[in-house]
Amino acid sequence: MILSRKLRSLQAVNGRAGLAYWCQGCDGIHTILIDGKGSPNWHWDGNKDKPTFQPSVLLRSPDRTCHTYVRNGIVTFLPDCTHKYKGTDQPLPDLPEWLQEEEYAD
Ligand SMILES: [Zn+2]
Repeated sequence: MILSRKLRSLQAVNGRAGLAYWCQGCDGIHTILIDGKGSPNWHWDGNKDKPTFQPSVLLRSPDRTCHTYVRNGIVTFLPDCTHKYKGTDQPLPDLPEWLQEEEYAD
């Protein structure tokens, strides 16, 4: 379900609630689980346009690290990121149009 130009809600595979947003550093979607049960789990402040997530979001794969704080709609890319935005603050980008379409299956 579309929450705003920045956020979609989604049902994770295991049935837990999640949020999806775009990452300009990875040029891809990031998802976090927010429903309070299980681990990992993030706190979302409920703001759809300028969200805050706690704690930081860390994604690690063999060829990439992306480690961010999302606070008040600003993405802080920490110095351990392996992409060009490391060490910078960037506005949370709008979702690409194909992810803003309601018929996209969650
Ligand atoms: Zn990323």
